[in-house]
Amino acid sequence: MCFTLTKRAFPAYTAPVNSAIKVRESLEKINLDPNLVTISYDEPLAAHCTFRIGGPADILARPRDAAGLRSLLAWARGESVPVFILGGGANLLVADKGIRGLVVDMGGLSSCRVRPADGTMEAGAGLAVSDAAEFAAGAGLGGLDFIYAMPGSVGGAVYMNARCYGSEIGDVLESVEYLDAALEPRTMKPERASFQYKDTPFQKNPWVITAARFRLAPADPAALLERMAGLKADRAAKGHFAAPCAGSVFKNNHAFGQPSGKIIDSLGLRGHRVGGAQVSPGHANIFINSGGATAADMKALIDHVHERVQVELGYDLEPEVVLAGDWD
Ligand SMILES: Cc1cc2nc3c(=O)[nH]c(=O)nc-3n(C[C@H](O)[C@H](O)[C@H](O)COP(=O)(O)OP(=O)(O)OC[C@H]3O[C@@H](n4cnc5c(N)ncnc54)[C@H](O)[C@@H]3O)c2cc1C
Repeated sequence: MCFTLTKRAFPAYTAPVNSAIKVRESLEKINLDPNLVTISYDEPLAAHCTFRIGGPADILARPRDAAGLRSLLAWARGESVPVFILGGGANLLVADKGIRGLVVDMGGLSSCRVRPADGTMEAGAGLAVSDAAEFAAGAGLGGLDFIYAMPGSVGGAVYMNARCYGSEIGDVLESVEYLDAALEPRTMKPERASFQYKDTPFQKNPWVITAARFRLAPADPAALLERMAGLKADRAAKGHFAAPCAGSVFKNNHAFGQPSGKIIDSLGLRGHRVGGAQVSPGHANIFINSGGATAADMKALIDHVHERVQVELGYDLEPEVVLAGDWD
């Protein structure tokens, strides 16, 4: 089967990457303030992804604010260095060879401002969605509680239109701050219809989300925290945190009449393995790193399940997990 490799290169970044040494020298020359951007080289990405799989990033940079982010992206554009935006790494399968060029870890953009008076909250793209939900609940604002305990960042959740327990990010999104392809700061007030099931404008454009504003509603903090604790317990009971994974591997498709997990299960694939990659014995649409899985193992398992379902049942399951990096 064939996946689209998601290398979030800006259109202008199509020239061949310079040699790694030249790129390093060039980055060192621009003297980014280490208090605003931290940089490491050949950083293994397995530590940054919930699958715990993935080779190194040539350059991993973590800006602390939107200005640092913009300087980095401007440098990359000037040097024709490809860019990949890393949120919480909760929906990513990074190749064993890693990611060439610059990986921007958004985790430093983690500010959060709650405005109980007008019922909104603005969160930096790198803030964990769980933390965002907790801040809102603490301030007596409900609406983000559904996403508590889901791994990942605010930016990643907006990019994916993350959904669970009957709600999705698009339901509560007031506006999104982002850098467009020319690195200009923009604000989008999304039309509800532009955020569909696991589908957003951000998947079709080379934009970098820097913050999101949510439209929330007054609620009792104690009741919110109780619901959130219940959701976390429910995820734990379903085995979400039992082994490294990236949540659902395939999207659901209503036209197939049943969830992807049930379809996979019907072929007896629960527990099926390729190397260290395994279809979770507890949930057939969650694939786990049962120990020492390579990206190649996981990709082979995804391809195998996709092919079995297509050949035996005629359904073309669409992957939800994003493949990133240097795949042959
Ligand atoms: C145990 C577990 C349970 C899960 N349960 C659910 C669930 O119930 N519902 C659900 O929807 N998902 C679920 N997921 C998947 C995952 O949590 C979501 O898809 C999440 O929104 C991914 O966010 P992230 O920050 O980790 O993004 P990443 O995995 O880091 O990136 C995903 C994509 O978003 C892009 N991206 C990230 N940040 C930005 C940004 N700031 N600007 C532009 N692009 C960006 C990346 O380039 C990449 O293409 C689960 C995952 C795990 C591990």
